[in-house]
Amino acid sequence: MKLFACIIATVCFASSLMAEPGVVDTTSSPFAKIQTVGLDEVRWTHGFWADRFELCRTQMMPSMARLMQGTNYSQFYYNFEILAGLVEGKPHGASFNDGDFYKFLEGAAATLAVTNDARINAKLDEVIGVIARGQTTNGYIDTWVQLHQRENNSSSAPFRDRTRWEVYNLGQLLTAASVHYRVTGKTNFLNVARKAADCLDKVFKNPTPELALQNVCPSHYMGIIELYRATHEPRYLALAKRIFAMRDLVKEKDGGSDNQDRIPFGKQDEAEGHAVRANYLYAGAADLFLETGDTNLWKPLAEIWMNVVSKKMYITGGCGALYDGAAPDGASYQSGITKVHQSYGRNFQLPNTTAHNETCANIGNALWNWRMFLATGEAKFMDVVELELYNSVLSGVALDGTNYFYSNPLRVTDPMPVELRWARTRVPFVSSFCCPPNLVRTIAESSGYAYGKSGNSVWVNLYGGSSLATELGGEKIKLVQEGDYPWSGRVRIKIEACGKKEFTLKLRIPGWATGASVRVNNSPADFSPQPESYWEIKRAWKAGDFVDLDLPMPVRLMEANPLVEEDLNQVAVQRGPVVYCLESPDLPAGVKISDVAIPSDTKLAARFDRRLLDGVVVLEGNVLARAGGNWSGKLYRELQPAELKPIGVKFIPYSVWQNRGPSEMSVWLPLAGR
Ligand SMILES: [Zn+2]
Repeated sequence: MKLFACIIATVCFASSLMAEPGVVDTTSSPFAKIQTVGLDEVRWTHGFWADRFELCRTQMMPSMARLMQGTNYSQFYYNFEILAGLVEGKPHGASFNDGDFYKFLEGAAATLAVTNDARINAKLDEVIGVIARGQTTNGYIDTWVQLHQRENNSSSAPFRDRTRWEVYNLGQLLTAASVHYRVTGKTNFLNVARKAADCLDKVFKNPTPELALQNVCPSHYMGIIELYRATHEPRYLALAKRIFAMRDLVKEKDGGSDNQDRIPFGKQDEAEGHAVRANYLYAGAADLFLETGDTNLWKPLAEIWMNVVSKKMYITGGCGALYDGAAPDGASYQSGITKVHQSYGRNFQLPNTTAHNETCANIGNALWNWRMFLATGEAKFMDVVELELYNSVLSGVALDGTNYFYSNPLRVTDPMPVELRWARTRVPFVSSFCCPPNLVRTIAESSGYAYGKSGNSVWVNLYGGSSLATELGGEKIKLVQEGDYPWSGRVRIKIEACGKKEFTLKLRIPGWATGASVRVNNSPADFSPQPESYWEIKRAWKAGDFVDLDLPMPVRLMEANPLVEEDLNQVAVQRGPVVYCLESPDLPAGVKISDVAIPSDTKLAARFDRRLLDGVVVLEGNVLARAGGNWSGKLYRELQPAELKPIGVKFIPYSVWQNRGPSEMSVWLPLAGR
């Protein structure tokens, strides 16, 4: 069967797809300050994101289609085919595979919005038909549970065991179907989602503490609310409120830090537990706020956000310091200590080698911050979205588009101090295949973050070669963005078409962009834009007007709060939104990562190298190295002074490390001569 072969095809032609809003649709959300623009209204036209979108369309999606329709690694689509009675077979694969398959379909629908590829459109219909055949009359659908029920496993009744990830799977179904509906205008997938939501509505009609435990890895808050936005069915908003409030029914003895249900959400002020679950919870809470304006949601969200960005997030945007551990600060009594895994750590606990930083957690942080931005219009949230996208999200996928990281450490050495569960090299498959399709949908939908609208304003959130064709106040406008961001901070935005009414162009000035300047039709602005803000230009625009934005991008040496023990007396290198690292292929022979130190007055020069790593800006200069000597069998030794010698190195963007074979790498490096 070649059900997905279409996705490999690149034949595209125009069709009459509906112009509808984006992945998250806040056009009717009463507490959204920003309205999202349609996935089909924005195009990456050239440069960094256009290249990534093409990689996703031509490499990531086809290879994932092959993997997910096949049975070599696990079973995704095959489980749906068995359930539909189309093939004989036994259930196989993780119980969350359905959700990850839906994420892939969401990515395909988002790609369809941009490419109008009729063959993707048709094949999605075919797949949706198969999914629908497996759905029960009461709307339930979960291949793992249903196929095990068929095998007469009486313990596999729905919503009995939260490790079957049913609400996670259904949440991804609801999101994917909402996106598919907006892109195509067709209701085939939406009808499956509606029936599934109706099933959730019945099952969770009268919440109990036992049912409340089902809220695990909660993509369903986002999914239910997106379905509400797509259908305007008030029952779904009521369901979202009820199923969210249900968390607070969990008895303290049954809940835990790992699933963020140890204490009621309203009392939480710190990010804890499994970082994917946490960030999905926060994103879902922010979605609920966008619809309800419930300040009891906003207060914990604001406090948890501050905790994350000031005490728990890596400089790359990575979330989840720990592989495994306990939540020792989770309770004042010893019996209240709970296990955590793939988890946020304590405040300022940010180890580099053993950082977990699951790609899904980093994507989850972008999803969360995007919704916080939509609620407020505050640049600080978009700064986090951008940080994630350029660094700890894209690091999840190799430049070949077929190999993936599950965790994203900031340091790898040879030998490693400890064996870790997940590979230090990108691989085509891991048993938790949640991150790769999450990357597919995120890259496919990346243009949806670039712009927003409010009243008579257009918000420019992300920079990069792109075009926006939308409506504002009943008038059509078209903007074209030129430049080579993130390698250059010089951006030009041209007004290609507009109406007669005044409107405001709001340009994001990132928090790192000191000394930014703006010119309109070559006339400099009277004031300098402030970092971490939106610069507003209100005027009656004419076609042909243009705005030049200059965001200076000096190489910056960064240091961490001294409470971050693991980064003490070390520096990281950043330029614009891109965090850099030093990797062993860029060191002289015989020099190890642990030998290198960075002089505080080091001068690193930026140079675009089109032949390296598909074309990146590298930062070149001299650093210092000293031979570490033989440490075999020793934990300590008397200091052995060794001469620090200058060596020439180049730093590469963190997101593209480990594309040249196994290597040593570090983001943080010791400072010399402070
Ligand atoms: Zn994942």
